[in-house]
Amino acid sequence: AVLQKADLHEDLKKALRSVKPKLLIDGEFVDAAGGETFPTEDPRTGDVLLDVAEAQERDVDRAVQAARKAFDHGPWPRMSGRERGLLIYKLADLMEEHLLELATLESLDNGKPLSVAKSSDLPEAIEHLRYFAGWADKIHGLTIPTAGKMQAHTYREPLGVVGQIIPWNFPILMQAWKLGPALAAGNTIVMKVAEQTPLSALRVGELALEAGIPPGVLNIIPGSGSVAGAALAKHKGVDKIAFTGSTEVGKIIMKQAAENVVPVTLELGGKSPFVVCPDADLDAAVECAHQALFFNMGQCCTAGSRTFVHESIYDEFVKRAVKRAAEKAVGDPFDESTEQGPQVSKEQFEKILSYIDKGQQEGAKLEYGGKRIGDKGYYVEPTVFSNVTDEMSIAKDEIFGPVQSILKWSTIGEVLERANATEYGLAAGVFTQNLNWATTLSRGLKAGTIWVNTWNTFDAGVPFGGYKLSGIGREHGEAALSHYTQTKSVYQPLEEPLN
Ligand code: NAD
Repeated sequence: AVLQKADLHEDLKKALRSVKPKLLIDGEFVDAAGGETFPTEDPRTGDVLLDVAEAQERDVDRAVQAARKAFDHGPWPRMSGRERGLLIYKLADLMEEHLLELATLESLDNGKPLSVAKSSDLPEAIEHLRYFAGWADKIHGLTIPTAGKMQAHTYREPLGVVGQIIPWNFPILMQAWKLGPALAAGNTIVMKVAEQTPLSALRVGELALEAGIPPGVLNIIPGSGSVAGAALAKHKGVDKIAFTGSTEVGKIIMKQAAENVVPVTLELGGKSPFVVCPDADLDAAVECAHQALFFNMGQCCTAGSRTFVHESIYDEFVKRAVKRAAEKAVGDPFDESTEQGPQVSKEQFEKILSYIDKGQQEGAKLEYGGKRIGDKGYYVEPTVFSNVTDEMSIAKDEIFGPVQSILKWSTIGEVLERANATEYGLAAGVFTQNLNWATTLSRGLKAGTIWVNTWNTFDAGVPFGGYKLSGIGREHGEAALSHYTQTKSVYQPLEEPLN
């Protein structure tokens, strides 16, 4: 694990120049009314990349008014679904044309390897938009048989202005997950992007205008959670709030939305169990468990952060997991060979190191890693703990970093109970060739997504969301659309009863 040089070579400067670091309101890139800005950092060094306009309450208000005007008087909810779909396809095409530039921005702002941003974040975001573009002209109501001389039918109408608040771990992908269903259904949007990673979203906002999505349909407001996020969540002009981030903030958002009686969807944290059965192909299980935790520097809401390994293979599994972690290429995200870049911010970096300390203090065995790498930026060694037990902080809390906790189990009934003994329920996984075990665990695990012999597999059409404190509602697929439409029922008398 070698830390490479961190410089801003010409490609990176060019990508940075493509961004207008302002608020996107009503089709214009504007300053905050009071001129406030905040710095966005390069996680490789902690250096400032750009100063970005920082939305305050009155800017949020301007953005909501623009979205309201676009909804009440603009063409967007009035054009045919097919026309809306074509514009969303066009946005996806433009993102594809600008794939390298957007991936570069994503890596610069977030620290994720460019190779991953190019091959995973961008293609998945584009695919997501295309999937929902395809839905735009297929959102329709029902004709429902009623008693007596009456006809009834339903319309599915957009909600209006939706407020969306997104995190920093997959900035462009989270943006696409939120935009796809909201746009397809004909809503207008005010999106609060994360303060750590505002850049790619702003560039996408500009591409949306270039695609022909009318001004005011997509407003983007960079800013802090406690000011801009809170102002959006409590704004009386917003008809729905969708949030992805921590469970702690999710609870606050829900309370604020309750004041306005608007629907809320939440995609929150997790502490997902990955259960390795005694018959598993060991190398494949070690690799899958490794990716389940270490992908995106461990900054995944779905991180497989409790690796439960059967006692009969435990010692060998730990040995191989350590070997895999030791081989990990940590370094500059712009080096093609890099698998792991820096953590997103100083705050996250320090939080992770403090959990590594806690793990040692509480008696887990530090098998590998545990320290920062280099003396600048936010690089953390891939870290593996064995002898982790259920009550330890590293087995209970969401660390959101490259820290693998390996726990031991002996019977299926026991591991099922322990895997479910968490307040979270976002994802869970099983690694086995045994059909009965796979089915028993898939059925028994309390989580919104179960991965059998795989992890972090997503498809735009397959619902994704959490049980318990991991959230409310589902993203992806028809399930996501249902959160962005409301149903209107119409009754109409008939001359004669008909069948
Ligand atoms: P966060 O929940 O504070 O931030 C997520 C988004 O919410 C950001 O845009 C933020 O500005 C906004 N926000 C913050 N406070 C708000 C408020 N009071 N009202 C409205 N919006 C607000 O998450 P974080 O501080 O960036 O990270 C903390 C922890 O959250 C992480 O360590 C991780 O455990 C978890 N997290 C989970 C996810 C996920 O995908 N589920 C993503 C990011 C972070």
